[in-house]
Amino acid sequence: MSAIDSLPPLRDVIATHGLSARKSLGQNFLLDLNLTAKIARQAGDLSEADVLEIGPGPGGLTRGLLAEGARRVLAIEKDSRCMPALAEIADAYPGRLEVINGDALEIDPLAHLTPPIHVAANLPYNVGTELLVRWLTPPEWPPFWQSLTLMFQREVAERIVAQPGSKAYGRLAILAQWRAEARIVMSLPPGAFTPPPKVSSAVVHLKALPEPRFPANASTLSRVVAAAFNQRRKMLRAALKGQAPDIEDRLIAAGIKPTERAEQVSLEQFCALARELDT
Ligand code: SAM
Repeated sequence: MSAIDSLPPLRDVIATHGLSARKSLGQNFLLDLNLTAKIARQAGDLSEADVLEIGPGPGGLTRGLLAEGARRVLAIEKDSRCMPALAEIADAYPGRLEVINGDALEIDPLAHLTPPIHVAANLPYNVGTELLVRWLTPPEWPPFWQSLTLMFQREVAERIVAQPGSKAYGRLAILAQWRAEARIVMSLPPGAFTPPPKVSSAVVHLKALPEPRFPANASTLSRVVAAAFNQRRKMLRAALKGQAPDIEDRLIAAGIKPTERAEQVSLEQFCALARELDT
């Protein structure tokens, strides 16, 4: 393994600091620094940017982000056992790494960051999905971040980038693609992690759009999409019955066949329907 910095190999860091992986924290570590540098590169040019990293663990991705030239990294980690290992990284990159020991779901990082801001994380998938939904649905748009580079279970990554007509297509695809450009940029087998998880993983890169892709009211769109996919096997005229007394006419006005199922309806059509329901 070629070293990207002067710090010890991650296997030694884990042994020195007793960082045996905890299942309860979703700990599957990346120990190959070539791989973490490659993931960091997916975030784009970070030299003029601050990076928010969630769940640095022993710091493999953190080291990748710093070695790839991130101006500053703010890392939020729940497991206090990781603090000494992360402090060593902070010493090796003076003034460029700040670490907060806490739960990313409860901490507002914005006071610690200067725009432009990019987000990078290899997180347990449930925390990752919850944070992704929060980052995609802020009260104001554009959001605080320019891009998100996030590791997910492959199946979740596919739901984010899914197109109409596929089983994976649903609320997450619509939420993500309405406000961002979303791509799977890397695939990783279970063996890339220590310990290996049961399933494959993938890195998704989301670039914030300056404006949502098609005009629509966020809460109307979210309500309609939730109702449509809650009963995804039903025809829309039935699944959306509660949305308006004349839902068939509204669907037709939005260019959607009332006999269609949610899975077949494009993001543009859902936005047209949300606008139609708001008139
Ligand atoms: N980024 C490291 C890597 O790639 O090797 C660790 C990845 S591991 C899959 C997930 C990390 O997220 C663990 O270090 C875990 O302790 C941390 N974590 C889990 N839940 C968290 C939360 N709510 N807030 C912050 N960190 C969390």
